[in-house]
Amino acid sequence: MTRFNTQLVHGLPVNDNNTGAVNPPIYNSSTYAYESVDKMPRWDYARSGNPTRDFLERQIAQLEHGTRGFAFASGLAAIHAVLSIFKPGDRIVVGKNIYGGTYSLFNEYFAERGIAFEPVDTADYDALDAAIAGRSRTSIDGEPLGATTPAKAVYFEVLTNPLLQVNNVNRIAAVAHRHGAIAIVDNTFVTPYLQRPLDLGADVVIHSATKYLAGHSEVTAGLVVVLDDEIGRKIYFAQNRFGGVLAPAECNDVRRGIQTLALRMDRQQANAQAIAEYLLVHPLIKTVNYPGVAGDRNRILAENGLKGFGGVLSFEVVPGIDPGIVLDNLKIFRLAVSLGAVESLAELPCRMTHFELPKEERLKVGITDELIRLAVGIEDAADLIEDLGQALDTAYEAYLQDHAGADVFGQLSAGLFA
Ligand SMILES: *Cc1c(COP(=O)(O)O)cnc(C)c1O
Repeated sequence: MTRFNTQLVHGLPVNDNNTGAVNPPIYNSSTYAYESVDKMPRWDYARSGNPTRDFLERQIAQLEHGTRGFAFASGLAAIHAVLSIFKPGDRIVVGKNIYGGTYSLFNEYFAERGIAFEPVDTADYDALDAAIAGRSRTSIDGEPLGATTPAKAVYFEVLTNPLLQVNNVNRIAAVAHRHGAIAIVDNTFVTPYLQRPLDLGADVVIHSATKYLAGHSEVTAGLVVVLDDEIGRKIYFAQNRFGGVLAPAECNDVRRGIQTLALRMDRQQANAQAIAEYLLVHPLIKTVNYPGVAGDRNRILAENGLKGFGGVLSFEVVPGIDPGIVLDNLKIFRLAVSLGAVESLAELPCRMTHFELPKEERLKVGITDELIRLAVGIEDAADLIEDLGQALDTAYEAYLQDHAGADVFGQLSAGLFA
């Protein structure tokens, strides 16, 4: 059995490559000929399966320590397929602070089709236990509801977006299993390089492979990995019948991205750590959200079975500083949503990634109007830090101009210590 980095590069052959080509072939074929009418070929029609997709699906299953993988046209197509295994009347407990598109898919689509979603603070294990057991339910608006049957699943993200809170897969999965529920983990922000949720008790792992796995902002893709045959059979049904499959050329883009995952992630994390440390002592920064600077780094890693915290962080500027001016003046960071690619991106969650969240809900979970999210790439950390520095300087100058003659230091430091 080879080790992780070797697996990233080589994957698992599907025994179709007889030419010696070092890369698996991209099959541009929607259909595959039968040898005879009573001899069904291994692959017959590309939606149902094809060797290029099979390579990627086996590769991600191997990396996540699952039994079966599935490739979809996007992360949300993957999440749609996973949620389709549930039936009207089923209840799913959902971690607070999930990806905006997922939140919308759950509450604006699946909820209307009879699946009940209940938000819970996944760091509060008593609340989680009660929610999964069905003892103390609240509606999406926080209204108390009566007791009910146990939930069928708990759904959460390992590192929450954009506040980077760490969810403990091991403990959450244990609570779910106590009540016969399965644990579904969106591992997009973490990747199998930093943690393998299935090893920690999760039942289903989902990726937006658009992010770190593909890693170059070139392709949208989703992946699912499972352990259990029956769950796998249902997800395969959804993949083949909804048909939201990843095309062969794009399966190859993701495969190629995965080859350099560990190298990219090492640099992204080192850069994110350096930037977080820089922001932490910057006078115009109120808070920094990155577990790498949130107290005892090694303890947080060990407790959660993580090898690192990834390349995403967020921070709040002090009151008076306009986060829009900071963002509009960045020169290396591009102003864009998404994350996990080689180039650094910056964005304003309240206006960009999280605008779907009702404002009250958004503020309740801590996504303020001053919060900026960075998705750090593989550039030189010194250039990224200089870029942030000059953009913050520009925002400070704008503040001074707006407050000419006022007690600037007093006002800003009041904000700083508010
Ligand atoms: C981007 C993202 C998704 C959705 O994936 P798409 O590829 O954009 O469909 C789901 N979950 C998380 C955590 C994401 O960051």
